[in-house]
Amino acid sequence: MNFQPLSSILVKAFSLFPSTSLCCAVLLVCNASCTTNQNRKKKTATTEPTPTAAVTVLPTSTGSKNSYSHVSVNGPYLALTFDDGPHPQNTPRLLDILKARNAKATFYVVGTNAKRYPDILRRIIAEGHEIGNHSTTHPSLSKLSDEGVRRELQICHDAVLSATGVAPRTMRPPYGAITTAQKAWIRQEFGYPSILWSVDPLDWKRPGSSVVSARLVAGANAGGILLSHDIHAGTIDAIPAVLDQLIAKGYQFVTVTQLLAMEQAQ
Ligand SMILES: [Zn+2]
Repeated sequence: MNFQPLSSILVKAFSLFPSTSLCCAVLLVCNASCTTNQNRKKKTATTEPTPTAAVTVLPTSTGSKNSYSHVSVNGPYLALTFDDGPHPQNTPRLLDILKARNAKATFYVVGTNAKRYPDILRRIIAEGHEIGNHSTTHPSLSKLSDEGVRRELQICHDAVLSATGVAPRTMRPPYGAITTAQKAWIRQEFGYPSILWSVDPLDWKRPGSSVVSARLVAGANAGGILLSHDIHAGTIDAIPAVLDQLIAKGYQFVTVTQLLAMEQAQ
């Protein structure tokens, strides 16, 4: 496969804005999470930002389809996703592991936990990760009325927004249980694509961290969406080996909306 290096994607992104300064280009490709910083920078900056500031910001998108389990990309990019948190001990430990390797991830949080641990949500956003909507009480959405689904998504959406100032842009249905009709109206109403997965290590069955690592590494391919759960300590134990082995193979870890922004036309 002919992989496109990250630097060339960024060059392409900036080449879209040839008449603007680097500063403006960064603003245009930046997602909502850095709006506050950018505004602060606009008021106080007296010099041009360094190129290093630009390479940390990738374009984002919610894609064109109503759901994804894998994204067709031209490069060695993967999305790591963690469901059901945040958890008061495991999620901060995971964030330390990700930070040490400069890997970005997406956290599909449950609204009840989001309300209990707003500080962890703020840390997730501050460190460049993304938060997605995983409902409020983790029901099977396919068994609920439209009004029930709407309420499950809205309460979680509002909890994340009020804690972080950044709204979720994608959702993951608990158990992957969602109908085609639900995917369509959820996209219409909330703007969320439904994000499933390409690799499921069944970490919730607690098979041991080495088994979880091996399953995630074996299942990874370009554009893959890896599922796991940051509420289980054994899953967190598995992640250093997953990151180290896949980074050694040349993969880079981006958020789901960054992966969607790399989607190639079919
Ligand atoms: Zn879940």
